Amino acid sequence: MRWGHKSRRGAASGESWREARDEVTGLVPYAAFVHLVAESLTGHAGTRSAGRPAVLLVDLEGVAEATAAEEHPAGDELLRLVATRVAREVGSLGVLARMSDHQLGVLFADLSAPAVALDLAYRISASVSAPLVLASQRRVQLSVSCGLVTRDALDPRATASDLLRGAGLAVREARRQGRNRIEVCTPELVAVADETLAIGKDLRQALQEKGLRVCYQPLVDLTHGSVLGFEALVRWSHPVHGHVSPSRFVPVAEEFGLISELGTMVLSTATAQVQQWSSTFRIPLDAHVNFSGVDLAQDGFVDTVEACLEASGLPATQLVVEITEATVEPDLETARSRFDALHDLGVRVALDDFGTGRSALSYLQSLAVDILKVDRSYIDSVDQPAAVSAVVPSDLPSGTGTRGDDLLRGVVAFGQALGIEVYGEGIEDEEQRLRLRRAGCDIGQGYLFARPLPAEDAAALLRGQAAVADTLGARLIAAEGTPRSA
Ligand code: C2E
Ligand code: MG
Ligand code: MG
Repeated sequence: MRWGHKSRRGAASGESWREARDEVTGLVPYAAFVHLVAESLTGHAGTRSAGRPAVLLVDLEGVAEATAAEEHPAGDELLRLVATRVAREVGSLGVLARMSDHQLGVLFADLSAPAVALDLAYRISASVSAPLVLASQRRVQLSVSCGLVTRDALDPRATASDLLRGAGLAVREARRQGRNRIEVCTPELVAVADETLAIGKDLRQALQEKGLRVCYQPLVDLTHGSVLGFEALVRWSHPVHGHVSPSRFVPVAEEFGLISELGTMVLSTATAQVQQWSSTFRIPLDAHVNFSGVDLAQDGFVDTVEACLEASGLPATQLVVEITEATVEPDLETARSRFDALHDLGVRVALDDFGTGRSALSYLQSLAVDILKVDRSYIDSVDQPAAVSAVVPSDLPSGTGTRGDDLLRGVVAFGQALGIEVYGEGIEDEEQRLRLRRAGCDIGQGYLFARPLPAEDAAALLRGQAAVADTLGARLIAAEGTPRSA
């Protein structure tokens, strides 16, 4: 919510914005700040040439949480305290403005060097993240993310909104990197944001025009090679850019509010398809469907799963919801309640890319998970994968194989102890299949068996498997005089 309604605004025209002040903090309000940024780019009324403008955004994290238990004006009180501290640091270096309920901005009309702004950002960070005391005597500690943009980082024709967008991108990057960070907007950051915007637009259109399809990678029995199910993997062939990886466009779908639509499309397609194969080939095949954390957090997520199961006729026990480990980490509570609701339906949950997160062992104790899909890095290298040292204790019993083998065995043993099945992914060669088998892992997927296949090719694979089974069955009947199932 923009806070402009609290500002004392003058007439809509003329130069009255110059006098406007925010009622809470006494700072320059957002609208006036935008005028000042524009002026810093073009020079003031042609009287002087523009300097080297820069904008620093100071984003506060934890304001809502810190003031939730307080009486109404606590948010304003906190912002006023912060503004006083920041104003002290800024001094005459720039113009300080209130941008929103949790953000302040500093405009440098002519920044001699980025170091000057960065030094200020460090001082602001240190000052604001020190405890603040409210009138109620409550001590509050905030984190601060800062983003800096200088005009030089942008196109020479950059406007005020480009400059503000650049500062916003830098703040977002700082938040993404963790708490109390300071990031600078670079041309690369702008290019990625522009590309993301373009992908989001095209993705929305592709979804509307049913331009995405689902491929199926077989999950196989690592001893006999028989197909036990399929992982549904979404594919997008962009008319200009060709194949776009889901690792690139799924996060964009999250950002653009398209993830529910995407998730539902894949889920309904995959459940219907796998149910059809299960009945045609008379084997109960599992359907593994990937979901993002944003999907999981949607209120209607479990209802959608239930509706797709009902529409497709796929038994709930044949559906596996795959969630990446990194996705569940930030919000374990939501993950826990969704997993419980899925289990109530009879649906199983797989933790994908296991071993790439930070604290896998600790949360597995409290999270009901049915399957661990060990990340490719576990079976990819013979030596210990980098991500693993943080996850698996270093004092695991060592076997006769390599350290990588020992770790794999440790994960499988750990899964077995908790009643969790362990699947291997990214199996590319026979040696990797054998290593997984030696470790006690029975099921997996990878290019060794098949790449993700269009539905027609997956059906052909099943047909081939059924033909082999029929031939074997016929031979058994001929040899023993009894049907296979007897
Ligand atoms: P994931 O769920 O871990 O899927 C496995 C990825 O490994 C797939 O990449 C697959 O094509 C690839 N792969 C399979 N076997 C091998 C192998 O032997 N070697 C190598 N090098 N790679 C192998 P893909 O399809 O590019 O998907 C990447 C990620 O995007 C997936 O990782 C999943 O997290 C996400 N994703 C894919 N489809 C969907 C979807 O429908 N919804 C959501 N939310 N995420 C999806
Ligand atoms: Mg997966
Ligand atoms: Mg995976």
